[in-house]
Amino acid sequence: MLESLSSSLQNVFRSLRGYGKLNEKNVKDALREVRMALLEADVHFRVAKDFTKQVRDRCLGQDVLESVTPGQQIVKRVHEEMTELFGGAHTDFNLEDRPAGVMLLGLHGSGKTTTAGKLAHYWMSSGKSVVLAACDIRRPAAVEQLSTLAKQEGAACVAPREGDTVPDVAARARREASEQQADIVIYDTGGRFQIDEDLVHELEEIREAVQPADTVLVLDAAIGQESVEVARRFHEAVGLTGLILTKLDGDARGGAALSVHSMTGCPILMTGTGERPEDLEPFYPERMASRILG
Ligand code: GDP
Repeated sequence: MLESLSSSLQNVFRSLRGYGKLNEKNVKDALREVRMALLEADVHFRVAKDFTKQVRDRCLGQDVLESVTPGQQIVKRVHEEMTELFGGAHTDFNLEDRPAGVMLLGLHGSGKTTTAGKLAHYWMSSGKSVVLAACDIRRPAAVEQLSTLAKQEGAACVAPREGDTVPDVAARARREASEQQADIVIYDTGGRFQIDEDLVHELEEIREAVQPADTVLVLDAAIGQESVEVARRFHEAVGLTGLILTKLDGDARGGAALSVHSMTGCPILMTGTGERPEDLEPFYPERMASRILG
């Protein structure tokens, strides 16, 4: 998804590295090109502006221009700044409790249920036991999708019974997980086409019933700038501990991935890169910056 940004940036850096000596104008011109490349990749304009300003300050304020390899020094500064933009250090889930609760939420179609299955796969591959809770009780198809995924992964699945409310299902899943001494419960909650009071109320009810250590937004990165707005609104309404960005394998421009941390302050925990159970990776800001900058 971020290939075209990556190749535009690498072109800028190639020409910078070509100079034996650099002056302020070379740096400013190069950073203007970096900014254009970011905007083309659909990075939020404020993020692109702040990013290039920070890099410029770091480059012009230090001994970069006098160094033997000014081009490389600038690339190094861009790398550091991009790592910060992605959140700096890697953030993990809060899995200290047993069972640890992970509530997944997000808009309809963002990839919540698929991600619940992927997380079960990920944790079970490292020997943890997982219970999946089907809290999207209005959509029988979602319950069925989750129980199929659970079966594939060999995870337990708690589905709604006649007359259950959403918090009932969540609480039962938590209880069963405790009885089975499971390590993790993943709550797959109901989605909507937009964030409304009804959804926020339902999420609050689940949270009250099971007090999950993590409240994680599953965010479709392929919807571009809008995804940043969605994250901001969910964070304001329910308070998130982290984000999972899905569909980073798509052909959209990917700017959301670069903007969402700095626009919300929420760490990106993992990224979804396909539809298969194994297409989910922990997110390392430094590695992502390296991947983009080459
Ligand atoms: P939900 O409504 O939020 O539960 O969304 P689903 O889990 O049903 O996913 C919606 C669609 O997105 C499905 O077709 C999934 O296969 C697809 N999907 C989910 N995550 C990814 C991903 O990381 N990459 C791709 N390419 N597709 C994904």
